[in-house]
Amino acid sequence: MSQKSSWKDQIKQKWGPHAHCTICGKAIPPDKKFCAQNCRDKYLGYEMKQKKKGRIQLVFLVGLMLFMFLMMFIMF
Ligand SMILES: [Zn+2]
Repeated sequence: MSQKSSWKDQIKQKWGPHAHCTICGKAIPPDKKFCAQNCRDKYLGYEMKQKKKGRIQLVFLVGLMLFMFLMMFIMF
């Protein structure tokens, strides 16, 4: 535990402002986004899932709009 905190202090002293790993929150150099390849892979997988979700939502919305448009077309 004490080793971890001293490592964090070292980063603070060396780089000043530092970033945190997007996945696990570890202190990392500000020019990096992830602490390890493992976290990078996790993030990319998560992002892809989110993109897929967004696409499904978009298709659903467009479908709903088309459906409403059709209903209006039928009614008038
Ligand atoms: Zn990480």
